[in-house]
Amino acid sequence: EAKSAGRDAWRFFDPQMRTVLEARTALEADLQQALQQRQLQLYYQTQVDSERRILGAEALLRWQHPVKGLILPEQFIPLAEETGLMIPIGLWALETAARQIKDWENKGLLGRSFQLSVNISVSQFRHSHFVEQISDILARIGIEPRRLKLELSESVFAQNSSDTAEKMRKLKSFGLAFSIDDFGTGYSSLSYLKQLPLDQLKIDRSFINDLGVDENSTALIQTIIGMSRNLGLQVIAEGIESETQVKHLLEFGCPAFQGYLFCRPLPVNDFDSLLHDHHFPATD
Ligand code: C2E
Ligand code: MG
Ligand code: MG
Ligand code: MG
Repeated sequence: EAKSAGRDAWRFFDPQMRTVLEARTALEADLQQALQQRQLQLYYQTQVDSERRILGAEALLRWQHPVKGLILPEQFIPLAEETGLMIPIGLWALETAARQIKDWENKGLLGRSFQLSVNISVSQFRHSHFVEQISDILARIGIEPRRLKLELSESVFAQNSSDTAEKMRKLKSFGLAFSIDDFGTGYSSLSYLKQLPLDQLKIDRSFINDLGVDENSTALIQTIIGMSRNLGLQVIAEGIESETQVKHLLEFGCPAFQGYLFCRPLPVNDFDSLLHDHHFPATD
């Protein structure tokens, strides 16, 4: 009715709202510069097996803002997506991850089967030159493709596109691996699981959070583990914070883990030390 519409119209010019919009515009301008000014970083978090040996790591974006300090991806990735900056930022992350693998290999710090997972946004994956961008990075930096695992969100598969399958097959033929991030939270049909060259399902943190609290989450976790086994896929649980969660997951047969309990995401120097102190089995 007229009265509430009037109030809404007034709210549009709310000084608080203006402040929010101005802060956003400022952050957007800052983000434009972040890449050139080398303010973006990758942090690394381990992925471990049932005996807590390192299987690999996930690379996670951080923005070291000159005034605001450390900014987490959830606070700038949506902005990057809206402004088209996610494409160059995503490329930077891939290239930095590849260089990091090369550096660790040169220092002799990696176990034989160590893999680094890199998050790929939907827009980045959909980019018409994505496959060429990857092959270019691999060739320029000279790492073995099998060292890289691409984490795709389920929303990539929301529409059943032959383009997705073709891209994945090409990348797979180079030797890259694929993981489905936050598995179980998307709205995609499960049929893609048997049609696409996948390697791993990553059980979303929200289910792990509710382990032992919510029976439905427990049942879902067991189902995802069983399903991955039946489909011949690897499975990993993310967001592990307690020993109780590990105990449950081991009982369910979960073979791989990631979470604060084992390791926080670390800046590269700290991760170097961690790799240095870790004993990779010779046969690994
Ligand atoms: P994600 O890929 O699902 O990454 C896992 C997130 O959970 C990370 O948050 C990680 O720091 C956090 N985490 C790990 N262990 C625990 C735990 O035990 N408890 C809790 N509460 N959290 C844990 P982060 O680093 O803030 O990243 C958030 C999201 O931003 C990522 O979720 C991913 O979707 C996106 N992201 C991060 N880096 C990149 C990137 O380079 N490219 C793209 N496209 N997206 C990225
Ligand atoms: Mg991820
Ligand atoms: Mg995840
Ligand atoms: Mg997540």
